[in-house]
Amino acid sequence: MAATIIDGKAVSAEVRAELKKEVEALGGRGVTPGLAVVLVGDDDASRRYVRNKKKGCEEVGIYSQEHTLPAGTSEEELLALIGKLNADPKIDGILVQLPLPKHLDEKRVIEAIDPGKDVDAFSEANVGRIMIGNYTFLPCTPAGIMELLRHAGVELEGKECVVIGRSNIVGKPMAMLLMHANGTVTICHSRTHNLAGVARRADVLVAAIGKPKFVTADMVKPGAVVIDVGMDRDENGKLCGDVDFEAVKEVASAITPVPGGVGPMTITTLLKNTVTAAKLHHENAR
Ligand code: NAP
Repeated sequence: MAATIIDGKAVSAEVRAELKKEVEALGGRGVTPGLAVVLVGDDDASRRYVRNKKKGCEEVGIYSQEHTLPAGTSEEELLALIGKLNADPKIDGILVQLPLPKHLDEKRVIEAIDPGKDVDAFSEANVGRIMIGNYTFLPCTPAGIMELLRHAGVELEGKECVVIGRSNIVGKPMAMLLMHANGTVTICHSRTHNLAGVARRADVLVAAIGKPKFVTADMVKPGAVVIDVGMDRDENGKLCGDVDFEAVKEVASAITPVPGGVGPMTITTLLKNTVTAAKLHHENAR
């Protein structure tokens, strides 16, 4: 039997409708959450992400600022802008779109963001808090996936969860959140031996690799839940995921499509984090 398709657009719409209500309620108390998105250079994919973030803000009523800087911007100029945004009471969340041009030190730039406004949760302080389980913000993609799993009614306790990919923004925090939810977690990467064998153990398989259609049907246990984080291009230049969707959906019990799966939830979590930051800033200011 073909898998249930986990519809990220539908879940995202539900969460955004809830957020919109929350933002309206905050408005009644004189609080408007604000997000600043900083883009350096003119990478097409980054521009598209920034546009979608702006649209998301408009949809739920978050005030947004877009700062587009030329590719040749110096680190001092970028840090000066972040300093201003850190001090701006209208801004609750700051997001610097990655990747940055090579001459800029991403680590130094991320660390310059006030951790209370780091709505991507990429700073060392926020990553450390996630590790301990005492966090304010969760990184957007893994937290969006957890929300999708909750909505799909996927039970994680005691289950074999395999994450393919160990990046700081997806793989590692994903594994941490699955562990916090009492999954038994294995992380695979480019040096893993017998990756197909490890993947086949998974009740929940998360692919965050960046290689089109890498996960094939023979790597998936019948009945597994498959989450595809990949945003890749196939041989015809068409958007696809890290999972061979057509073949794997015949084996899995549930699967996220690309597009329309994880992607919409990433931005929705960013909006959620911005609203959380606004609430905290408002409470702290009282
Ligand atoms: P990344 O930083 O390039 O990390 C890729 C990971 O995959 C690395 O840990 C790498 O292992 C592993 N890997 C690469 N080739 C492999 C192989 N042949 N076998 C096993 N593991 C392999 O990528 P990322 O930022 O995590 O992103 C992953 C994918 O998700 C990309 O397609 C990206 O566009 C997409 N993405 C989507 C969203 C969304 O909202 N939908 C958000 C973020 C990212 P090593 O560590 O050993 O090199």
